[in-house]
Amino acid sequence: MNSIGSPSDPFRIAIVGSGPSGFYATEALFKSGLHIQVDMYERLPVPYGLVRSGVAPDHPKLKQVIQVYAGIAETPGFRFFGNVTIGRDISVQMLQSVYDATIYTCGAESDRRLGILGEDLPGSHTATEFVGWYNGHPDYRDRVFDLSHETAVIFGQGNVAADVSRILAKTRDELKNTDIAVHALEVLANSRIRNIHVVGRRGPVQAKFTSKELKEFGELEQAVPVVDPAELQLNPASNIELADKNNTGTRKVYELFSEFAGGNNNAPGKRRVYFSFLKGPVEFTGNGRVEKVRFERNVLSGDAFQQSAQGTAEFIEIETGIVFRSIGYRGKPLAGLPFDEKRGLIPNRDGRIIDGDTVLPYQYVAGWIKRGPTGIIGTNRADSVATVASLLSDLQQSGKTRTVNSKTDPLQLLSTAGIKIVTYQDWQKIDQLEISRGLSVDKPREKFTRVNEILQLLE
Ligand code: NAP
Repeated sequence: MNSIGSPSDPFRIAIVGSGPSGFYATEALFKSGLHIQVDMYERLPVPYGLVRSGVAPDHPKLKQVIQVYAGIAETPGFRFFGNVTIGRDISVQMLQSVYDATIYTCGAESDRRLGILGEDLPGSHTATEFVGWYNGHPDYRDRVFDLSHETAVIFGQGNVAADVSRILAKTRDELKNTDIAVHALEVLANSRIRNIHVVGRRGPVQAKFTSKELKEFGELEQAVPVVDPAELQLNPASNIELADKNNTGTRKVYELFSEFAGGNNNAPGKRRVYFSFLKGPVEFTGNGRVEKVRFERNVLSGDAFQQSAQGTAEFIEIETGIVFRSIGYRGKPLAGLPFDEKRGLIPNRDGRIIDGDTVLPYQYVAGWIKRGPTGIIGTNRADSVATVASLLSDLQQSGKTRTVNSKTDPLQLLSTAGIKIVTYQDWQKIDQLEISRGLSVDKPREKFTRVNEILQLLE
């Protein structure tokens, strides 16, 4: 065992995942004042996770946080190992053998399921696929979305559903100067969709949109929001929720729905975004692809803030050519680590990974894989800081000793595995190339969307 945490032998920490929680965890480690080296692993050859491939292209301000992450990445002691998949190229056990501690910040990479008939018919997509596609995520680059029908249906009323429906509602002119992937811009520009139904299983007071996102539907060039005033009638429990003093955000959302309900939505030629409530999807039907969605009308039951949707055995149908399921993300298991199937995350106590009652030594989680897919980008900062506090306390209590193989530089693991690593300097080169490609078409960047294409740039 060696004494560690000195300039010549810093603590060695691996971070798995390069989204917001990975960078906030790195920042917290560097701010600890200890001598620490951070190696950040990312399965894609590009960093920033959902800030790059989740945040909508027409929300550039949300992406400015990348400048903060770039600052963190330039801190001495930081290394980026892109194009490395933990659990495939390098095992969890290998990481354990060369790092003093590992923090998994790998997010929630899959989706909840509705569990209804026809869910997997062609034409039924997850929001994740569509968002990844228009944002140039290599996994979704070649997905095909048929926008030739006049009607699209989106399930779920969270901010991801808002992003998907807004992108469907926008014109080419509204999108062309964003960093939207060019392949998506071309398809969206030729979209025939006119009616976009954004459907919630509960009521307008339970919708999870934030008011800032919802407000944008009143500001679109060629689309109008539509709400049926009758659907804004509330039951007593929802009135209690709305009146709650801590529920300012919900009140703003409800006010916006009321404005939309009173607005003029007869403007000819405009696309319509219908927000509708208390409808639970029960089945998708169609001959070889989705043609119809069948909903059951719901009522709410239960106490205020705990109301759930109950079917009424009254059904309605909407004809459609495409549906998007936007009902929340879900974490994926990682070989070698425990997984809570029910909640879709890695079980943990204060960020320490647990297997039953056993704490796995020096193995941590932060972000969506720790707490589930909730909150905005900034929410991950406090979450990562809390995990790092657990880690630092454990390291210090262990008397700064090490049982891992301090002689093996993790880079040796990677070269033995024959992986082409993308370093942070490589990413800076890709970044500059994307920005200059974008300049020529008046976009902030034109992303490279294939892994091979990116790796070739670095040869
Ligand atoms: P979300 O906010 O949790 O919304 C999920 C929606 O799906 C809810 O309306 C939920 O309804 C519904 N749902 C869940 N299960 C369902 C089912 N079985 N059938 C029908 N509907 C169902 O999730 P999200 O939209 O994926 O967003 C994830 C997180 O990212 C959120 O915290 C969000 O605010 C954040 N985000 C932020 C931004 C931004 O700041 N601009 C953009 C995108 C995402 P119930 O309430 O009834 O469960």
